[in-house]
Amino acid sequence: PGAPITHSTIDTLARQHFPMCMKHLHNTLRKDSHLKYSGRLQYTLFLKGIGLSLEECLVFWRQSFKNKTDDQFNKEYSYNVKHSYGEVGGDANRRGKGYSPYSCQKILTDAPPGPGQAHGCPYKHFAPDSLSSLLQANGVDDVTVLKGVREDVVQKRYHIACNRVFEWSHQAQLKKVKNDGSWTGTDLEVIVHPNTYFKRSYLLKN
Ligand code: SF4
Repeated sequence: PGAPITHSTIDTLARQHFPMCMKHLHNTLRKDSHLKYSGRLQYTLFLKGIGLSLEECLVFWRQSFKNKTDDQFNKEYSYNVKHSYGEVGGDANRRGKGYSPYSCQKILTDAPPGPGQAHGCPYKHFAPDSLSSLLQANGVDDVTVLKGVREDVVQKRYHIACNRVFEWSHQAQLKKVKNDGSWTGTDLEVIVHPNTYFKRSYLLKN
C-alpha cells in the first residue's frame, strides 16, 4: 500500500512516520545540508530498511548535500552509501546485502553524539528540556505525554518513552485495529527497532 518509496517522498515520510531519532537526523540534514559520518551511517541504514533502493538513496544524499559538488560527493560520500548497501567493500559475505539497520539497543549503546553530531537516540542523548522542545517542534504537544516521557527518561526507560509517543501519535488508528482484531500479539509488542516504528506507522496510515 501507499506510494513507492523514492528520494522525493522522504520529507513526507519523515514527518509522518519516522521515530524521533530519524526525524532529528532528517531535520538536521535539511537544516545543515550535511550530516557527520555516524549520523549518515545510522540514517542510511534506516532508509535502506524502509525500502529505499541504493539508486534512490544516492540521489537522496546527493541532493541533500547542497553545498558539495558532484565530484566531492562522488569522492567523499557515495562510497559509504554503497558500502552500507553491500555494493562495494571487502567483506564478501556482505556483498549484495550490506549492513543491517541499527536496532534501538545498538543506537542506545553505541558512542553518544558529540558536538555537531546528530546520531543516537534523543530520548537518551538529549537533556530533558531539549527533548521536550524537540518533541513539541515535531507536533507532540500533549502535556500528559510530555510529562510521561520526562518520567520515563529519568528512569532510563527510553524505549518506553518512544513507544508512549508512538501510541499517542497513532491513538485513533491503534484503537481501530485493536477493536477490529486486525492487530494482535506481536503487532502490538513494544517497539525496539526504528524500522519497526516506521513500518507500524506506515501500515496504520496507509
Ligand atoms: Fe529511535 Fe529507538 Fe530511540 Fe525510538 S527508542 S528514538 S526508535 S533509537
